[in-house]
Amino acid sequence: MGIGTLSGSGTGLSGSGTGLSGSGTAKTAVFLDRDGVLNEAVMRDGKPYPPASAAEVEIVADAATALGRLKARGLPLIVVTNQPDVARGAQTAEAVEAIHERIRRELPVDDVLSCLHDDADGCPCRKPKPGLILEGAKKYGIDPRGSFMIGDRWRDIDAGKSAGCRTVWIDRGYHERGPSIAPDARVGSLSEAVMWILQKIDAEEDGT
Ligand SMILES: [Mg+2]
Ligand SMILES: [Zn+2]
Repeated sequence: MGIGTLSGSGTGLSGSGTGLSGSGTAKTAVFLDRDGVLNEAVMRDGKPYPPASAAEVEIVADAATALGRLKARGLPLIVVTNQPDVARGAQTAEAVEAIHERIRRELPVDDVLSCLHDDADGCPCRKPKPGLILEGAKKYGIDPRGSFMIGDRWRDIDAGKSAGCRTVWIDRGYHERGPSIAPDARVGSLSEAVMWILQKIDAEEDGT
């Protein structure tokens, strides 16, 4: 059984962007969670939930601009998302795919990798396990240790750490536990997360 369920082929990365142009240095990417990062989460009792359908998706206001800044630097953008409602029978895989089609249409992401399992499945891809990140890294020849993971929940940050990524936690004040390990940055929005990453990359390119 392969790791994860690849929902759609994405826009592909072959020959596009400097992030994959094989300069001989490790390829860096940005991995992103979906709900609460790219689209607004549906809130109930202080906890975030996915939208039920593509029609209910509300893309985060600054997402296209923020992701455009990362793409301008040649960074592959790979979405890694837990969607356990499929295993729980509360949402169909087709509904999840329709949401991803909308995200790919409206945002410059290169791929969307999904885990459709629940804890009981014991899969290697449900965050906080690093399977989706490692799958994306393998698929596109990326070094996770130079890469970044942006998420809004503890599972995202723990998965990023487990894969060896630098982690950026968008802390939305949910009524739930935080990450097991401190994130490398804690911010209030996707735009701030992107600014932090660009500053890091600039500093590294300057050799500082
Ligand atoms: Mg989320
Ligand atoms: Zn899974």
